[in-house]
Amino acid sequence: MYFCNAFNQDSCKFWDVKSDLCTVGVLRNPVWEPYTDWIVVSETDQKKRRTNIAYSVRKKILAMLEEDQFGPGVALPSERELMAKFDVGRPAVREAMQSLQVMGVVEIRHGERAKVAEPSIDRTIEHFSCTMRHLIAASSVNLEHLKTARFAFEKAMASEAARMRTTADIERMTRLVDAQEACKCDHALFLAHDRDFHRAIATISGNPIYAALAEAMFGWLRDAQINVILLPGSEDPTIDEHRAVLAAIEAGDPKQAAKAMDHHLTRANSFYHRAHPTMGDDI
Ligand SMILES: [Zn+2]
Repeated sequence: MYFCNAFNQDSCKFWDVKSDLCTVGVLRNPVWEPYTDWIVVSETDQKKRRTNIAYSVRKKILAMLEEDQFGPGVALPSERELMAKFDVGRPAVREAMQSLQVMGVVEIRHGERAKVAEPSIDRTIEHFSCTMRHLIAASSVNLEHLKTARFAFEKAMASEAARMRTTADIERMTRLVDAQEACKCDHALFLAHDRDFHRAIATISGNPIYAALAEAMFGWLRDAQINVILLPGSEDPTIDEHRAVLAAIEAGDPKQAAKAMDHHLTRANSFYHRAHPTMGDDI
């Protein structure tokens, strides 16, 4: 299939989809006459068509991996075999494979055949995170949705931690709060310990999806400049609230743990908004 992009009435640019090579030809040149399936496309349409072909190849490769049950570590067919199988050119296969690599589905090493990647929750969430960062940066409404989701998530994590905690978890959490209290004068370290405390609550459940989601959510908020400022004077209330959350988790009281977390996040939000009415919040 050849497409051509008309320069004027006589000449045009021919695009060979398979090789992705372009050449200028004369519309009525007999050399081109055998190719009767030309379509006149603009530069923009050509780019769209190229992307669509790569997208279609990506879908076909994903279906092939599913149907033929390719396991992690198994090599995919060579680039040439994929070109023949899907009747497309090298650029489409390369673009599709690069996209699958970004998705964490395949691993590509120079000089080797691409292999099916080991599934990874962290990588999956990282892939999803690219879209999330874009969504949050594009709209303040989306940022508000994220902040609301974070409240619900952290309260649920505190409840779950109260149900699942072990003695070792409580000891670890206590050390974290003690370490945070000991560095009240070091702003950056205090914030780092704060994040560690919230992150640790999400790990108590033992569910790696919760832990990865917490990590991702805190990262999105950090990227949006939320949770990066702690105002002077808020250190003592923060420590007291962390201890209250921890006490409820230790007591095995899911309702109280959620309530203490809600109080902590709400207080920190209002404290920040009083000082910076036009900006975000912290914890
Ligand atoms: Zn906190």
